[in-house]
Amino acid sequence: MSNPISHPDFNQHETPSLERPIRYLPGVGEHRANLFENLGIVTVRDLLWYVPRDVLDLSKISTVNELTDDRVHTVRGTVIDVESRAISRGRTLTAALLRADDGLVKGVWFNQPWMLRKLNTDQWMLWSAKPKFRDNRWEMNSPRLQWLDADEEGARGEVLTKYGLTEGLKQDTVRNVVKTAMEFAIDEIVDDLPERFRAHYQLPLLGDAIKMLHQPESVQQFLDARRRLVFDEQLDFQLGLAIRRRVRKTTGRAPAITVSPKVDARIRRLFDFELTPGQEQAIAEIREDIQQNRPMHRLLQADVGAGKTVVAIYAMLASIAAGSQAILMAPTELLARQHWNTIDQILLHSRVKRCLLTGNLTASQRKETLQQIASGEIQLIIGTQAVIQKDVVYHQPGVVVIDEQHKFGVVQRARFTGKENEPHVLVMTATPIPRSLCLTQYGDLDLSVITDKPPGRRTVVTSRVMTPKVEQKAWHFIREKLQSGRQAYIVCPYIDSENPDDPAGAIQTFNRLSQTELRGFRLGLVHGQIERDEQQQVMSQFVDRQLDALVATTVLEVGVDVANATLMVILDAHQFGLSQLHQLRGRIGRGAFQGYCFLFSDTQNETSIERLAAMERTANGFEIAEADFELRGPGNVLGTRQSGSMPFRLTNFKRDEKILTETRLAAQRMVDAGTIDQPEFSALKNRVFKRFGEQLDLPRTG
Ligand code: ADP
Ligand code: MG
Repeated sequence: MSNPISHPDFNQHETPSLERPIRYLPGVGEHRANLFENLGIVTVRDLLWYVPRDVLDLSKISTVNELTDDRVHTVRGTVIDVESRAISRGRTLTAALLRADDGLVKGVWFNQPWMLRKLNTDQWMLWSAKPKFRDNRWEMNSPRLQWLDADEEGARGEVLTKYGLTEGLKQDTVRNVVKTAMEFAIDEIVDDLPERFRAHYQLPLLGDAIKMLHQPESVQQFLDARRRLVFDEQLDFQLGLAIRRRVRKTTGRAPAITVSPKVDARIRRLFDFELTPGQEQAIAEIREDIQQNRPMHRLLQADVGAGKTVVAIYAMLASIAAGSQAILMAPTELLARQHWNTIDQILLHSRVKRCLLTGNLTASQRKETLQQIASGEIQLIIGTQAVIQKDVVYHQPGVVVIDEQHKFGVVQRARFTGKENEPHVLVMTATPIPRSLCLTQYGDLDLSVITDKPPGRRTVVTSRVMTPKVEQKAWHFIREKLQSGRQAYIVCPYIDSENPDDPAGAIQTFNRLSQTELRGFRLGLVHGQIERDEQQQVMSQFVDRQLDALVATTVLEVGVDVANATLMVILDAHQFGLSQLHQLRGRIGRGAFQGYCFLFSDTQNETSIERLAAMERTANGFEIAEADFELRGPGNVLGTRQSGSMPFRLTNFKRDEKILTETRLAAQRMVDAGTIDQPEFSALKNRVFKRFGEQLDLPRTG
């Protein structure tokens, strides 16, 4: 590889070249260094690990003469003409011409009027598609587009890297600075992975990978290089998780809880239905865990309505029967109450001493409750975050259930662990989460999945309602169902909408519907700004069928279970995320009657339309989670707090799912077999501790 060039400024530093700021590189300087800093690049290492967002394969460009209609071709040229016109009612055709060196190619786009904005005349571009010869000209239907910078006009015959840029920084500048940085530092790059390991996973040597990343000779080289870097990042994290699991399994102490046949029968008698095979399986896995004196750390994944609560109750009552306390933590007051009502009802004739612990108690009530918890007199505690406040001292916690974990974040989970006597922890998610996120965000937990549902459930019929005419039909349908005794939820994205163009507000919708579409029916209104007591009152009227329809915000999302409510209208449905829509829809179709969900929306946004179409297409929460993830990325699926805690710079969860699975397996194997403790892996192990030790709370000796 290249020899380091000697440069007085750069070489006088003591630190290795990789860790030095790039501002000392020849040709960079203060100003450019600041621009790079906008991209998160400070040191030479940052720069060399800055993965191009794309590569253009200019080595495989076809001239117009070379086009054939049997495969995908890429042509390069300038856009010379763009137009868009209506071709029939509601259909548009956008067409453009691309002038290549030896002729013209036509591009056509149906019903994509926005293409007009994306295609500018004089723009240098690459178009890729399988062309057709039509009306004496080669034509591409919706070709894949790549934009070339003006200075790339002449570029040919190479694989061109394209970096993410910032205002004031050009592709060529980045390429040149990267080139200089490589000349200085590439020989310093040490590979922490032993040869044998690399060969097994077909990973290039790290130094070679960096070179192939920035100066690839083929697209494949670039992909191999990127895989190597993402692999490293994920391997470190997965090793961290695996070590954390090992530490827990070998040091933590939890009460061993065995379930006798008598206790088992006693718990089952509380339910007036048979458990589903999925519930049985989950319960079996939990029983296996809690009878060990090592703390359980398990995630229960299931779709809305699959019956997670039953599984949670089983685990908690098993704990209580064995003389330990059980705790259920919910993310909101409303949900805590809902659990309380359900469980209180189930335990109506039982002697289990229980309490609801929320932020809502008076000082003296709280004091007394805490005393009874500390003495062990109270056996079952249901509540919000209040249950993990510092002043809550448990007598002997056996099982802790955390419901809807992704609203909490990892920190709260930690509050129960790392003590001398740890409880068994069961985490439940509200709706399924995509696989790749599960591997990282919950990667330190064992997994139970319920894929079936209680019998007799019908799939809710879901329809998009995109025009006023169809809206009228939908309301007509709803009125008929209400007349025959069913009940409806009308969900609005906002509480209050000031002007008519805003998304629907619950208050305005309530007023409007009482005068128009639902005149004569008994309507209720609930939203977060209504006093809690009044909310409760309206809810119980709805439960008692004194109301036909309930206009509400997403306060509904959790915590209502009314079997007679089989209709749901979601106004401005595109305002909601997919998982949220799915969770909402989970509120209907719980009983014997067929459920109907109407998604009202006049959105023109492609992604939004695709989201609503996904809701129509499938009722399977696991599929919806994946679709949501495809369409919106990890941040939105987990909520910002979570994505902020994801320590990854290089990984793209969607693109790199295969690497996630590979590294997880690799890490598990290395930790289980103890290979990670062997000298040849000590560099790797050190790196893991340096990078994730604190974040994952790994002990020095792990
Ligand atoms: P989720 O998984 O969404 O939390 P719940 O635990 O709230 O689901 O259960 C949804 C509904 O299904 C509840 O009304 C519950 O009583 C009922 N249910 C749960 N398990 C069964 C079963 N095995 N058979 C029949 N109904 C069940
Ligand atoms: Mg639930």
